[in-house]
Amino acid sequence: MGPLRIIILAVLIYIGYRLITKSFKKDENKKKVDAQSAESGKKFTDVLVEDPVCHKLVPKQQAVSLENDEETHYFCSEECCQKFTSEKGDDI
Ligand SMILES: [Zn+2]
Repeated sequence: MGPLRIIILAVLIYIGYRLITKSFKKDENKKKVDAQSAESGKKFTDVLVEDPVCHKLVPKQQAVSLENDEETHYFCSEECCQKFTSEKGDDI
């Protein structure tokens, strides 16, 4: 009877150990999913436009805009906008 009790005890300890390790693994998987969902959520909101005078790339929301006959031009500053309007007609 002695050795049988030891085997049963060993099996119970083994089952208990497996249950504990399984629950730990589940927690790890949950953490991984949370990290992935946090990554997606970034949005590309601003567009870069080229200044026709100095050829700088400017974010559209910060640019100085000038509506021409059919198109809109974007400039990095008022200075470039004025340059463009004063030079207009000569080259373009
Ligand atoms: Zn400019």
